[in-house]
Amino acid sequence: MLKHHLFQQALPVLEQIEKAGFEAYFVGGCVRDALLGKDISDVDIATSAFPQEVKHIFKKTVDVGIEHGTVMVLFNDNTYEVTTFRTESTYQDFRRPDKVEFVRSLEEDLKRRDFTINALAMDRRGHLYDFHNGQVDLHHQCIRAVGCAHERFHEDALRMMRAVRFAGQLGFEIDDKTQEGIQKNAHLLKKIAVERIQVEWEKLMMSSFKKNGIDIFLKTGLYRYCPEFAEHKDALQRLGNDVFVLETDAMYWAILLYYMGIKDIDAKQVLKSWKLSNQLIDDVSILLRILFFRKERDWTVDDLFQIGKRLSVQGETLAYLLCLTSEKTEVADLYDALPIKTVKDLALNGKEIMALLQKETGGKYLGELIEKIRVNVLHSVLENDKEELTRFVKENRE
Ligand code: ATP
Ligand code: MG
Repeated sequence: MLKHHLFQQALPVLEQIEKAGFEAYFVGGCVRDALLGKDISDVDIATSAFPQEVKHIFKKTVDVGIEHGTVMVLFNDNTYEVTTFRTESTYQDFRRPDKVEFVRSLEEDLKRRDFTINALAMDRRGHLYDFHNGQVDLHHQCIRAVGCAHERFHEDALRMMRAVRFAGQLGFEIDDKTQEGIQKNAHLLKKIAVERIQVEWEKLMMSSFKKNGIDIFLKTGLYRYCPEFAEHKDALQRLGNDVFVLETDAMYWAILLYYMGIKDIDAKQVLKSWKLSNQLIDDVSILLRILFFRKERDWTVDDLFQIGKRLSVQGETLAYLLCLTSEKTEVADLYDALPIKTVKDLALNGKEIMALLQKETGGKYLGELIEKIRVNVLHSVLENDKEELTRFVKENRE
């Protein structure tokens, strides 16, 4: 169980905490994933030491979320999040505990965790602490809320999105009572910041068993409380049924919006309501534009020049997967064969053109001329050659 190098690296951290007279454990996703034989990406450490005590034990620490009990420990060139055992009480706004109380008992800490498979702890000897039968649920591939599902989702509505996300990532069932809890509390998702829902939705949409997660997302009605999804059950179902494995989140969003029948000009508003980054919004809009034109026609050099290689390749992959085109165009090769990739690649620059025209200043004339040259070179009417472009400039002198 402790084989993974991330556990090995972190062992001295646990040892130091124990040496100072406190308890320390690996908790949460790393223990779950190690038991499943999956790779782990980071380790979370929980301790009976209070934040100030943790800061005393280690030379270098950073306060990252001290009000929640998390201290970042810098140790042997690595960083570790060390979180004090805590209980959370009386959630009044369905998303944040009103009061976080630090406690000395692991058992208390594990009670506040969302699902039994996430409520496992392991000490530095590899001994497991499992107060909620998480190992049985792991074995039966079941996602089950710790304690009363209804209460747990009522306390923190994000947990419902986490449940379907884990169903997508792990391919597990969600226990009946837990599903009932989701159904009953789905409307509380409205209280959660969209950014946090987005994180879970993207993980679900890109997960290996997304059909499994999305089916429950639909069945429990959770989707109704996500931005712009209420009227699009069919599109979501279709996305769930896809078996495509795509490289980027933008590609998944583009497919989804395509299924939702959203045109590239309306995409911005939909994606804004999901609070996606501007970069992602732009990428998805361009991918959608590609899907719509690929239904009608093949690529032109203007498309390739404007869109660039990265998105052209992604867009063509999508168009082909969605059967919008019967043959996949080798857009990467087409792009590489373009005579110029940007205006800067032109064999004559603005300064040189001005000199040829004996002009002191630039202006509209220059922009128009460069644009003319760009189009001609891109379409191979002119060769991108200094002499040929010089001749062209002189011939076009007014
Ligand atoms: P991942 O592999 O995606 O990181 P994870 O289980 O580690 O999965 P995190 O979000 O990193 O998920 O959270 C770490 C642990 O903290 C969880 O395993 C769970 O025990 C607890 N946890 C996280 N979010 C919640 C929540 N909203 N309610 C209760 N417990 C939570
Ligand atoms: Mg984690």
